[in-house]
Amino acid sequence: MRRPLTLALLLLAGPVNASAQRRALPTPASVLGFVPGTDRRLTEWGPVVDYFRALDAASDRVTVRQLGLTTNGLPFLAAFISSPANLLRLPALRDAQRRLADPRLTPDSAAAARLAARTPAFALVTSSVHSTEVGGFFAPLELAYRLAAGSGPAIRTILDSSVLILVPSLNPDGVNIVSRWYAQTLGTPAEGTAPPELYHRYAGHDDNRDWYAFTQVETRLVVDSLYGVWHPQVTMDIHQQGSAGSRIFLPPYMDPVEPNVDPLLVQGVNALGAAIAWRLTTDGFTGVSLHAGYDAWTPARAFQHYHGAVRILTETASASLASPVTIAFDSLRASEDVDPRQRSWNFVAPWPGGRWTLTDIIRYQTAAAMAMLEHVGRNRADWVRMSRRVAERAVRGWADWPYAYVIPTANQDATALATLLDILRHAQVEVRTALGSFAVGQERFYAGAYVLPLRQPYAAFARAMLEAGPYPDIRDYPGGPPRRPYDATAHTLPLLLGVRVLPASDSIAVELSAPASPAPPTFRATGIAPQPGSRDSRPAVRLGLYRSYTAPVDEGWTRWVFDTWEVPYQSLVDSMVRAGNLGARFDAIVLPSMSPRAIVEGLSARRFPARLSGGLGAAGVQALRDFVDGGGTLIALNDASDFAVSALDLPVENALARLSPQDFFAPGSIFRTVLDTTNPIAAGMPAQSVAWFEQGPAFESRDPLRVRLVARYPAQAGDILLSGWLIGGQNIAGRAALAEVRLGHGRVVLFGFRPQYRGQSLATLPLLFNAIRTSSR
Ligand SMILES: [Zn+2]
Repeated sequence: MRRPLTLALLLLAGPVNASAQRRALPTPASVLGFVPGTDRRLTEWGPVVDYFRALDAASDRVTVRQLGLTTNGLPFLAAFISSPANLLRLPALRDAQRRLADPRLTPDSAAAARLAARTPAFALVTSSVHSTEVGGFFAPLELAYRLAAGSGPAIRTILDSSVLILVPSLNPDGVNIVSRWYAQTLGTPAEGTAPPELYHRYAGHDDNRDWYAFTQVETRLVVDSLYGVWHPQVTMDIHQQGSAGSRIFLPPYMDPVEPNVDPLLVQGVNALGAAIAWRLTTDGFTGVSLHAGYDAWTPARAFQHYHGAVRILTETASASLASPVTIAFDSLRASEDVDPRQRSWNFVAPWPGGRWTLTDIIRYQTAAAMAMLEHVGRNRADWVRMSRRVAERAVRGWADWPYAYVIPTANQDATALATLLDILRHAQVEVRTALGSFAVGQERFYAGAYVLPLRQPYAAFARAMLEAGPYPDIRDYPGGPPRRPYDATAHTLPLLLGVRVLPASDSIAVELSAPASPAPPTFRATGIAPQPGSRDSRPAVRLGLYRSYTAPVDEGWTRWVFDTWEVPYQSLVDSMVRAGNLGARFDAIVLPSMSPRAIVEGLSARRFPARLSGGLGAAGVQALRDFVDGGGTLIALNDASDFAVSALDLPVENALARLSPQDFFAPGSIFRTVLDTTNPIAAGMPAQSVAWFEQGPAFESRDPLRVRLVARYPAQAGDILLSGWLIGGQNIAGRAALAEVRLGHGRVVLFGFRPQYRGQSLATLPLLFNAIRTSSR
């Protein structure tokens, strides 16, 4: 018999210490020196750290941990906030969470129910991953202070029934980058603009799209030290959207929902998002939108959906960084899903327009987080049960899923294989090795092959990442324009990495090892990276990487790949290119993917100081032409290829240039390519490979003497798409994905795709490295 003793136990275990509330707690203002939300004031990271440490020292409801260091070496923090009694028993709670998250450790359902009854729900709130969304610098301080200082039944329920893990910033480096730029430009025409550099050293705005590849330090800290240890049931990620739409977005998300997400989590997201919206409306907040704009397709933003947790995204309207804006009601702008001037079921109370400030942003963000915490506190048992059910269903297995995946070791690229296994390890997916030989269908595998049985807690992550699924064909109306997805439509790791993985539908007749822990990968670009131990400091290729002050994120990823694979290079800003004589210093120059206009025009001289504005200009374009004429190699990635073709007047056409989205559309998909492996750029590659295609160009040659086509898309339209979405394949069939064009004494290498996509597409990195390696003079 199950007795209703949950609440009584919790109250006994965790009464809030009344004396703690009387102790003088530092307010955020007392540490920052100003009230959060003050117009035109931002904070750097140091004071945020100081505040959380001061709160930890003063409050027995707050424990702050440093998880590690950021990319730029700043402390990365998480604050645990709960009742003093819960914080004292954190080690026991950690063990309970582990047992609840893995039903194989607690198969007895009565024992599991007893464990669930005495364990609080865990909620993880993360903030300011995007550093121009500056309300997120302050909302965590407000939230922590309210929970540490507050009294009354609502606060008491939150503290007793839940443990909040609060990450004040997922990108502390960006707090400094943006606040320093803002301070520097206050009172100038550039006030309120984004900084002229990426706000995460490598990932920029993509720092929020790294949740399955785990390439960045910050992602790994959160995955390894928080998700993998504390198994939160509920998560909230605090963001901001544009100024002219709704005041705050909350889930439900739009379709499509990625099909491997457990339906119970989808329903949990819907319920919690709507409950928060209900509460905000009750408390007089206007302009709350649901089910608008943001979908739930890519695992790149939704680690939680594969790890037993709901993910609540909040997107609050922005001001101009910390500078207030005024938005007249009539200038509010409709999206496809919500018209902020009209009531609708998913937008019940319009905001009247007017002044919108940093204070408003923080108020909305904090209220949404408090509403979430109150809901979780009141419904603790439901949330604990939800995650437990999701785990039980995963361990039991889904009828239409394969039994296992097999990852052979023979004929695989060692670095790519190690990368895949490392990704699975960060995601807590268990991989075992076969202790003998076995067959799957007609194919035989031998001892040492990796086997990933799908009946395990985080099997959904494995299935989402390892099997290619088509993206649904969603149109505005039948036959109409495609509905633009929120992010990329493909994420299939075996294709991106070039690793063979096979599903095995039936159980495999072989003994398996305990979960394996293979060595992490090591990266080195052979022939470009300096020889280990060599004292010759001259690089094999003198490489330049164009670094625009418009800060395109592809530049950051290119730099990340070069730094990680030990490719020596020098960054080139506009003034260095304009100065000319590039051939004296470089053999090859890489232009990362960015629009031709951004390359040529750069930042506007009307808003930005002269040293940062103007782009390459005519002088820079001429300098690049002289560089190639004189024997240099210009390597243009994706959108930058359009620049190279027009600026250098190359005998190449983009076959997709004038097509409407109804005729051709592929907003982030994986295509098959056929390579000319006799070309040195494709040396060592298989005859068939892939391309990460993202609305880039596809080439046709107008001069067979000067243009060599290194990679093409298949001639049959039906053979092109490997994962994601493609409309109008016949328009790209047989066209070139990669071309090499002679110009003067040099050459231009045109990529119609991103060979180093978000640091993930290891399958196509050799094409980029070969293009660089063959530039040596
Ligand atoms: Zn954001």
